[in-house]
Amino acid sequence: VKKGKAAFLLGKKRFVIDEIDIPDCKENQVLVRIKAVGVCGSDAHYFLDGRIGDQIIPDKFIIGHEACGEVVDVGKNVNSVKFGDRVVIEPGISCGSCRFCIRGMPNLCPSVKFLGTPPIQGAFREFIVMPEKNLIKLPDELGFAEGTLAEPLAIALYGVRLSMLQPGNTVAIFGTGPIGLSVVFCCKIGGAGKILAIEPIKQRAEMAKKLGADYVYHPDMEDIKSRILENTENIGVDIGYECAGEQEAINRMISVCSIGGKAVIFGIPAQDRICFDPHVVRRKQLPLISVRRSAFTTDIALQLMRRSGIKFSSIITHLFPLERIQDALEIVSAKSDGVIKAIIEP
Ligand SMILES: [Zn+2]
Ligand SMILES: [Zn+2]
Repeated sequence: VKKGKAAFLLGKKRFVIDEIDIPDCKENQVLVRIKAVGVCGSDAHYFLDGRIGDQIIPDKFIIGHEACGEVVDVGKNVNSVKFGDRVVIEPGISCGSCRFCIRGMPNLCPSVKFLGTPPIQGAFREFIVMPEKNLIKLPDELGFAEGTLAEPLAIALYGVRLSMLQPGNTVAIFGTGPIGLSVVFCCKIGGAGKILAIEPIKQRAEMAKKLGADYVYHPDMEDIKSRILENTENIGVDIGYECAGEQEAINRMISVCSIGGKAVIFGIPAQDRICFDPHVVRRKQLPLISVRRSAFTTDIALQLMRRSGIKFSSIITHLFPLERIQDALEIVSAKSDGVIKAIIEP
C-alpha cells in the first residue's frame, strides 16, 4: 500500500504529522494529490476548543476542508475529470436522496459527510479520495491557493443570495475576516449602494476598503450606531451581515438594521448561547437569516474570482508547508502577524 503524509490534530492545540494509507479509487471515485488547503475559522475553533458546539473531534483527527489539488487516479466509471486535471474539492458529500437533497438543498442534508467535521477526516494531507461529483475544475487563470478561496466565497455568495441583496441596498458587515471580506466582495459585485464595515484589526480593515467597503469603522473607537445612522440618513442599513461570531457584533447589527431590513448571521460563536433583544427585532420585523455552508455556488465563486476585475486573492497573507501547520493554526486562531487568510500547501 502506498502512503501519504497527513496532519493529525491530537485533541486540542497540538498537531503531529504522520503517514496514512492511500486508498484505491472505487468506480466513481477520484484520487486527488492535494496542493493547497485554506485554514478556516472553523478549523481554528477545533484547534482551540476541540469542538464546535456538540461536534467534538476524536483524539487523532484530520481537520481542513477548503482544498484544491490535481487528479492522480480515477475509478473506472469516472468521466468528468482525468489524470492531471486541476480541481477544487466540494467538501460536503450529501446523500442525494433525502427530502433536502431532492429539493435542491444538499447543504442541509442530515446525513451529509463534510470533510474535517467529525467523523469525516479532512484535507490537511497529501492525498484524498473523493466522489467524482465533488470535484469542480479549477480555471486555468487561478492558482491552487486561490482556488481554495472558492469554498468560503461560495458561503458568502450563498448567504448574500439568501438575503436577496438588491442593487442600491446599503449594507453593514460586522467583522472582515475571510468570510466578512468575501461578503464585502459579493456585495460590491452585487451592486450594493453603500458598504459599511466594522473591523478592529488594521490589515483587515484596509483589505475591506480595497475590496469595496466605502467606510470601515473600529468597533471600540467609534460609536458604530451613530456612524451608521449618519451614513444612512438615519434609516439604518437594508441588510446587516454578522461575520464575527460575537455577541457584541450581533447586538450592533440588530441595532443598525433599518425597520423592515434583514439580518444575516454567518459567524460561528465559540459559546453555546447568543442573545438578542426580541423587542427591537419584533418592532423592526427583522428576519434573522442563518447560513449553513453553501449550495451550488462554488463554480460561480470561481467565475467571480476570475472575471470580477477585483483581486480577491489578495486576502491570502500566509502560505505554510504541511510541516508548519501548528504555526499556521496558532497564528490564525490568535489573529496575529497580520494574518487574513492562511493556506497550507501539503
Ligand atoms: Zn471554511
Ligand atoms: Zn441528503
